[in-house]
Amino acid sequence: MSALTSLTLKAALKGLADKSFSSLELTRAHVDAVEAARPLNAFVLETPEKALEMAAAADRRIAAGEAGPLEGAPLGIKDLFCTEGVRTTACSDILGNFVPTYESTVTSQLWRDGAVMLGKLNLDQFAMGSSNETSAFGPVVNPWRAEGSNRQLTPGGSSGGSAASVAADLCLGATATDTGGSIRQPAAFTGTVGIKPTYGRCSRWGVVAFASSLDQAGPIAKTVEDAAILLKSMSGHDPKDSTSLDIEVPDYPSFVGKSVKGLKIGIPKEYRVDNMPPEIEALWQKGIAWLKEAGCEIVEVSLPHTKYALPAYYIVAPAEASSNLARYDGMRFGLRVEGANLTETYEKTRAAGFGAEVKRRILIGTYVLSHGYYDAYYVKALKVRRRIADDFDQAFQKVDALLTPTAPSAAFGLGENADDPVAMYLNDIFTVTVNLAGLPGMSIPAGVDHNGLPLGLQLIGRALDEGTLFSLGGAIEKAADFKAKPAKWW
Ligand code: GLN
Repeated sequence: MSALTSLTLKAALKGLADKSFSSLELTRAHVDAVEAARPLNAFVLETPEKALEMAAAADRRIAAGEAGPLEGAPLGIKDLFCTEGVRTTACSDILGNFVPTYESTVTSQLWRDGAVMLGKLNLDQFAMGSSNETSAFGPVVNPWRAEGSNRQLTPGGSSGGSAASVAADLCLGATATDTGGSIRQPAAFTGTVGIKPTYGRCSRWGVVAFASSLDQAGPIAKTVEDAAILLKSMSGHDPKDSTSLDIEVPDYPSFVGKSVKGLKIGIPKEYRVDNMPPEIEALWQKGIAWLKEAGCEIVEVSLPHTKYALPAYYIVAPAEASSNLARYDGMRFGLRVEGANLTETYEKTRAAGFGAEVKRRILIGTYVLSHGYYDAYYVKALKVRRRIADDFDQAFQKVDALLTPTAPSAAFGLGENADDPVAMYLNDIFTVTVNLAGLPGMSIPAGVDHNGLPLGLQLIGRALDEGTLFSLGGAIEKAADFKAKPAKWW
């Protein structure tokens, strides 16, 4: 049934509507693919029975002429989204076998629209990481390998399970989240499309919190159009999230294929960083040429505060994380390690339950929020954040969108940056600015490096202008004609 798993979401939805195959057949093919792909470690929980039950219900709705926009399509869910009655761990031991009694808003909207859940996907613990190596379940292995090598590569992070499972055709699309790049960098490392929408587009309700002012959900998909279809279902106002925007969700798929003629595209000169591989620069130039050919006007712009973005992000995100993660005290969720008294129970539980990277973030966050350092670090970082947003505002007076590389390298080896947190943080250099400013950003596969590994280009849009990103992403996708797939070794 490999033909069914190689379909795009769009093609699968058409096949279901035409009754070329049933959701049960489509879902069975994906369940089998998930099972066969265990060496990738992309799923931390497979839910085949639930998937087949949901597929049968979808088939009944299709037969009754009541199909929703995602009716019968099997998806993977990042294990940061709470799923009612289905274990949700954030890939941390501290949540243990936590089974939510509620469903996240984003996933409930997917089920409302007819999608089928294949299971829960691996991620960096609490979404903190860029390589999936901080997961309590062990790292996801990228389905891609360098030509002539069998070295294991990272799929990126934190949404490594989402990206790897889409790249390996285990699901038709996946949910992901992005606090500093966790949708876009894994998409770039696996030859998939990922979009982080404007802050407030998708409800954060029921998504395990990392840094609440930066966290946003979004899809990872096989094509730009698939990403548009998924984002449409995932977006929308939710009274349960006070930062959710009460505005209409545009029909994203209708933007794909639209002409981009006359659009002005900014090239931020500060994104040309030291030691960037020449292949990334060359890919960026190709992207510029493609958009020019499609009728765009290319304009050099300056985002002068870019160099402060990473330090500001690595203050703001840990600060919020240290506060959000205070709730894991052994009393309410998951793990509890008993001590002689209450304080000792807290300490033992948190010492045993949190991984090393999470502890590092809590320590940094607590430090930058502490009396005496608050103004020097946290308040300063907030001021930088404002400057970064102002830089974008100014650029968007001149241009309609920005084009940059997504990440400073192709996928690196598992273990390669593991003992150097700063080297790991540098991976986020092109992505964190977008979260700090709350803007939409998309990664599109655009080529391969000398090892045959995928590389991505990033489009950054005005707040709420995901539509233009879908049009431009569609134009890049068409010009790049990226057809490469990982050679199957699993
Ligand atoms: N890699 C970044 C971090 O470790 C971003 C993670 C994310 O977007 N969730 O914080």
